[in-house]
This record gives sequence, structure tokens and C-alpha cells, in this order.
Amino acid sequence: MSESAAPETIIVIGAGQAGVQLATTLRKLGFAGRLLLIGEESHLPYKRPPLSKAFLAGTVDRAALHVVPQSSLDKAEIEFIAGVSVAKIDRSTQHIELSDGRRLAYDKLALTTGCRARPLSLPGADRPNVFTVRTIDDVEALRLHCSEGKRAVVVGGGFIGLEMSAVLLKMGLKVTVLEGLPRVLARVTVPEVSAFFERIHREAGVDLRTEVKIEAFEGEPQVSRVRLGDGSHVDADVVIVGIGQIPNSELAQAAGLAVDNGIVVDEHAQTSDADIVAAGDCSNHPNAFYDRRLRLESVQNAMEQSRAAAATLLGTPQPYHAVPWFWSDQYDLKLQMVGLSAGFDQLVLRGDPQSERSFCAFYLKDGHLIAADAVSRPQEFMFAKKLVALRAPLEAAQLADESIPLKSQLPAA
Ligand code: FAD
Repeated sequence: MSESAAPETIIVIGAGQAGVQLATTLRKLGFAGRLLLIGEESHLPYKRPPLSKAFLAGTVDRAALHVVPQSSLDKAEIEFIAGVSVAKIDRSTQHIELSDGRRLAYDKLALTTGCRARPLSLPGADRPNVFTVRTIDDVEALRLHCSEGKRAVVVGGGFIGLEMSAVLLKMGLKVTVLEGLPRVLARVTVPEVSAFFERIHREAGVDLRTEVKIEAFEGEPQVSRVRLGDGSHVDADVVIVGIGQIPNSELAQAAGLAVDNGIVVDEHAQTSDADIVAAGDCSNHPNAFYDRRLRLESVQNAMEQSRAAAATLLGTPQPYHAVPWFWSDQYDLKLQMVGLSAGFDQLVLRGDPQSERSFCAFYLKDGHLIAADAVSRPQEFMFAKKLVALRAPLEAAQLADESIPLKSQLPAA
């Protein structure tokens, strides 16, 4: 479409948190044309974080997960098409093709296609009691195998695996975690924080093993035991695989858009096509704060980047330069993380992760705070977020001293 003409039809592909945020922001910014939101899942758009927490535990139902009720979509005149995937983007004619054969024209397009769970390619990993977790349907199917006394084997000591282990234990299952690396959460935090979570899980009763090689899942028709590299076995009634996510970028790639660990966008969420934006888990964007490209899997990124993408579609671009943050709930603990610690040269602990159940880890580079992890210290996390955003110069001794409130480290306004 021409540079100046207002778009008449905008289609958002992918109805997760990013897709809904993008569509509703378009309306808030005054877009009055036709607006479609297309999702391949048959549910109303929903929040995924509870899937490995309260929804697995059964303490919240499906309705509690919905990002917005259908009535809000109706009120905003967002045409929501569920249960159909977009099979093709034809950029030359500005049409998309749905899996049911329908063709729809667009002026502008938004890709918020998220991720899918990475499958494990090992013998037996395709048996019916082996699960990955990304969707409501995954968890509802998994829960049928999770009654008291059953033996759950969790493959992967990342956030999702550890969160689910905590819940399954509480549900009365016997839980074994098998992690291939020398420590849990190895890709996202330092050994001190990993050791803290290993202690917490072991104290709770999880059989947590690291540097484990899995050879195969044995048993017919269901897996009944997991064979390890040292020849030993772990008995299993259910297996949960939490080994990461893969960005859904094939649709974009087939349409000729630039893709590299996600759909490549600029700071305005613009893809290599001026009429197409991408946001959320599926996108790979430049972050000025850390001077590198990032593909983030977090609610905060999905929400904030989508707002920037909506503004871009309407010709009023606002750069997206947020400091990333994330949370994880395990047992009674809330881990909150802000910033990226890669490249830090000094770690400062506030509180003792070896003996306590709450502490902060601060990551300094050249005397400036670049990231922080806070376990069950929401107040301190709030100030840490501000300090990281300011890249505040800080004294390690003062940060470590719990008698000095973090608030006092903030520069005077
Ligand atoms: P998604 O939520 O994946 O939505 C994308 C949607 O697009 C999907 O419904 C997909 O089916 C659909 N789609 C894909 N391709 C097509 C197509 N061709 N046609 C039509 N539809 C398509 N983040 C946190 O910050 N904190 C947490 O504690 C946390 N916990 C999590 C726990 C679990 C179990 C999981 C899975 C994720 C968790 N996350 C957490 C991550 C967070 O949920 C994601 O970052 C967020 O959901 C990303 O939203 P999104 O809209 O980009 O992608």
C-alpha cells in the first residue's frame, strides 16, 4: 500500500498475549478499519504462565486464563477467528491463506505467532504419556496422568520444568528431574542462584539429578521407565519434557521475510517488509540497552513490544527499548529477574542463598548495575528494576549490606 494511505484492513496472525495486546492497542490508538485476529488454537486467547503453575495444580480454571473475554473483543470490533491457522502469506498480492482455504486481503499485517515447545528426539519420546507443555490442551491431557502417588520424570531443569516439579510434588507425585547440564537454570543465571534452587527442590523432596544423559524411554504402549546413559533406569508413569521453545517463524520465512532465531525486526517491530510487523516470542529485536539482538520469551516483552508494533502499523513509530524482566513461581517462592547478566564482572549477594529462602543477586559491570535476580523480595526487586534501568553506578559493599535500604541507592530525582 502507499506510504500515506491509512490502512483499511489489518490482520494479526497469532492470538496469544502479544496478538491481543497488538489488536487492542490499534483500537486505542484510533484505528477504525477492519481488524482481524486469527489464532490456530480453539480457545479464546489466554495467558500461558499459569499453565505450569496454578492451572496445572487445578486451582484456576480455563476462564481465569483468558486475556480478555469474547465481549471485549466484540466491543472493540476485533474479528476473532479461532481454530484456523494461516498457511501462507502472499506479499505480492497482500493476501493471506487460511488452512480452510479462505483468502483474506490485508493492507498491514502483524505476526505474533509465538513459540512451540521443543520436542525431544529420543527413542520412545513419542509415547502417549510423554508431554511437552505450551498449551491448555497439553496441560489438560497431562493432568489425566498426574494423580497422587504417580511417578513423574521431568526432563529439563529450566523454569518450566522446575515450576511443574514444584506443583506435581504438591499434588502428591514422586518427582525426578533429569538435567543434562551440570546445574539447573544454567542458561539464565549464575551457579549461586542455581544452587539455591537445587537446594530448595531437594529439600522439598524432588530427586534432582544433573549431568544426566537420557538414552531412551522404555515401555509399551506407555513409557514405564527412562534409561540413562550410565545404564540405570528411573521408573516413570508420566514424562514431562521442558527443554525450551522454538519460534514459530516458518510462515514468515516462507513469505521471504528475514528470519534468524525468530522473525528479524528493527526497534519499531518492523520486519523486512514495510507493511508487516512482528512482536512477542516469535520476534528477534535489537535492544539498545544491551547493544545486541534478543529473542525474549516473556509476558513483559510480548505486551510492550506489541504496543510498539501497533504504533508502527499506524505510522507513528515509537522505539521499543525496554529492559527485560521475568518472573517464576516455585513453591512459596517468587523469583523475579531484571536485565541480562551476560558480561557482568562482579556478583553481589544480598542475603544468603545457601541458608535463607529470600535474597538478591546483583550483577555489576564496570561498577554499574546491569541485572538483578530477587527471590521473594518484591520490594527490593522494584528498586532493582529502577536501578538497572538507570545503569546506576553502585558500591558492592552497600548493595550487600542489608541494613542499607536499596531505595537509598537511587540517585536523587
Ligand atoms: P504465544 O502465547 O505463543 O501465542 C502465539 C499464538 O499464535 C499461539 O496461540 C499459536 O498457536 C498461534 N499461531 C502460531 N502460528 C500460527 C499460524 N500460522 N496461524 C494462526 N495462529 C498461529 N513468561 C513470563 O514472563 N513469566 C512466566 O512465569 C512464564 N511462564 C510460562 C510458563 C509456560 C508453561 C509457558 C509455555 C510460557 C511461560 N512464559 C512466562 C512465557 C510467556 O507465556 C510467553 O512469553 C508469552 O505467552 C508470549 O506470548 P506470544 O503472544 O508472543 O506467543
